Amino acid sequence: MSDMPVMVALGEDYPELREAVGKICERYPGAYWRKLEAEQAYPTEFITELTESGFLASLIPEEYGGSGLPLRAAAVILEQINASGCTASQGHAQMYIMGTLLRHGSEEQKQHYLPKIASGELRLQAFGVTEPTTGSDTTKLKTRAVRQGNHYVINGQKVWTSRARHSDLMLLLARTTPVDEVKRRTDGLSVFLVDLRENLGHGVEIRPIEAMINHNTTEVFFDNMEVPAENLLGEEGQGFRYILSGMNAERVLIASECIGDARWFIEKATDYAKERKLFGRPIGQNQGVQYPIARAYAQTEAADLMVRKAAALYEAGLPCGAEANMAKMLGSEAAWAAADMCVQTHGGFGFAEEYDIERKFRETRLYMVAPISTNMILNFISEHVLDLPRSY
Ligand SMILES: Cc1cc2nc3c(=O)[nH]c(=O)nc-3n(C[C@H](O)[C@H](O)[C@H](O)COP(=O)(O)OP(=O)(O)OC[C@H]3O[C@@H](n4cnc5c(N)ncnc54)[C@H](O)[C@@H]3O)c2cc1C
Repeated sequence: MSDMPVMVALGEDYPELREAVGKICERYPGAYWRKLEAEQAYPTEFITELTESGFLASLIPEEYGGSGLPLRAAAVILEQINASGCTASQGHAQMYIMGTLLRHGSEEQKQHYLPKIASGELRLQAFGVTEPTTGSDTTKLKTRAVRQGNHYVINGQKVWTSRARHSDLMLLLARTTPVDEVKRRTDGLSVFLVDLRENLGHGVEIRPIEAMINHNTTEVFFDNMEVPAENLLGEEGQGFRYILSGMNAERVLIASECIGDARWFIEKATDYAKERKLFGRPIGQNQGVQYPIARAYAQTEAADLMVRKAAALYEAGLPCGAEANMAKMLGSEAAWAAADMCVQTHGGFGFAEEYDIERKFRETRLYMVAPISTNMILNFISEHVLDLPRSY
């Protein structure tokens, strides 16, 4: 690593962003999210407002219609959404999926798509990587794209493709060269920008998955779907590298949502511990109630430092794979510890839907599984940081 100093901002950085995002979130209280969940609906109004305010285009450079802000600013936006009790994961992908297009697309593709993504005219919110039989073993994925003249014919299936029914485009990873014909298993995969509107009912079928949380996630089936060759991003066969190149930013952003969740749980628990009086005093006067809150706070502050470090390294153009992965792992664990503590602090009321704690508790559990599970992060640290033998 270079010995160039990297500055990490502490405290409530980007206060103007925090305030503006917080104001929008005030209009979407717990009742809004509970109603959506009961109806298994998508937060269209909330995401539209975030889009129209330009927040979801914060990472798109100004020349393509976005605000070209640093990664840390985008992280603050997502953190603030979750810290306000809202759910950033319903729209976060509009912020970062376009990174693959930005880094690896042709100038023509960027000119064509990015301004429309920035304005919200095109929603690029669906990311098709995970498959039912291959899961974390990404390079074994079976969705196959075969070039025929000036288009590709795609067959296969994706699972857990979130927001596919609320997205115009999908970033799809498919195999273009069979795995037994490539030197490295990471070769032969390619990335396509698929127009879901054109293909729905003509080679694409999307089925919702009923899940523990209202995440608008789906299964997507491709049956001889035709995608124009001009929708290939970058070079054929290099797709795995392109997807990996976006992972560090994604990890930092997801980790920030975790920090936001943790802060929400800590605030709820602290307020309740002060106000709930039993045995003639607030429950928060008992150390048995205080300590878990204090511990969750310390855990969150530590995770937040790693999130800021990873973002600062990323912005400085320095390697940050280890820090981005650790930020995601520590953030998700801090959020989960805070969630568990918050339920315990509220006793039975932690289970009451109107408190929103049980909803956020279920939602924050996801981050230890997706978009990458904790074990895969520990594998990364073991192998790439500690130089231990690869275990799988
Ligand atoms: C609500 C939700 C939304 C999602 N949204 C998307 C999306 O939009 N797009 C998308 O592509 N995917 C999405 N995913 C998929 C998500 O990225 C995967 O669930 C995740 O990567 C884990 O893969 P898997 O579920 O196949 O588990 P598996 O890969 O089957 O793993 C199961 C368990 O085994 C462990 N394990 C596996 N291999 C090893 C090993 N070598 N060493 C140690 N432990 C191991 C894992 O850590 C995990 O705990 C979503 C998932 C959920 C639940």
